[in-house]
Amino acid sequence: MKVYSHKEMLDEVLGVKGTASRDKYEADMDKFLGKKAMLKLTTPNGADRVLLHSCCAPCSSAIIECMLENGLRPTVFYFNPNIYPREEYETRKQEAIRFVTAQGLDFVDADYDYDRWKARIAGLEGEPERGARCLQCFTLRLTETARYAAENGFTLFTTTLASSRWKSLEQINEAGRLAASRYPGTVFWEQNWRKGGLQERRNQLLKEYGFYNQQYCGCEFSMRRLEQVL
Ligand code: SF4
Repeated sequence: MKVYSHKEMLDEVLGVKGTASRDKYEADMDKFLGKKAMLKLTTPNGADRVLLHSCCAPCSSAIIECMLENGLRPTVFYFNPNIYPREEYETRKQEAIRFVTAQGLDFVDADYDYDRWKARIAGLEGEPERGARCLQCFTLRLTETARYAAENGFTLFTTTLASSRWKSLEQINEAGRLAASRYPGTVFWEQNWRKGGLQERRNQLLKEYGFYNQQYCGCEFSMRRLEQVL
């Protein structure tokens, strides 16, 4: 007679981990038990404190949840002077504060200065989304994030911008690397935050928390997309 442990039984009947039938079984069981498939995170410099530039609550939610489950403690940095008009900025910011404080995390409310943002993108107003204006927009926001990181003892920063399918990941990473290069001692974490089930989880959390879900990227020029849809 042989007494099988649960693991031995699964190994024998379904195959060891890594085989298709075993992986499918485990995924089905996780789903049945209501467990989230957790993306395993490894920070590029081993830090467990991260400064997370947040663009909005919906895009931040799944990323923050995933970081916490991986033992990382993000401090949320809200610097989005691109958002227009001011009322829209305040609405998005209050939603971000609501979520972040509910997690017991620190929220850094950086200043809103739309005129500074407008000066930065001057001459690029007519650019399409994913064009040259967006690169400048990302660079301004991430450079400010890197500055705060350097001045407040963070060695690692990243951004929720990299969770949006509307934005160019290449541009975001380029802006992040440039920002880090301006503040030696900081590293930009180039993580594709759309992958690993985070996009799906974002959509679940959006409903669970009843977040305000904006319909355009943020600046007055991106409102054109909204106007075209309406
Ligand atoms: S479309 Fe979005 S990323 Fe591009 S400039 Fe406007 S606010 Fe910034």
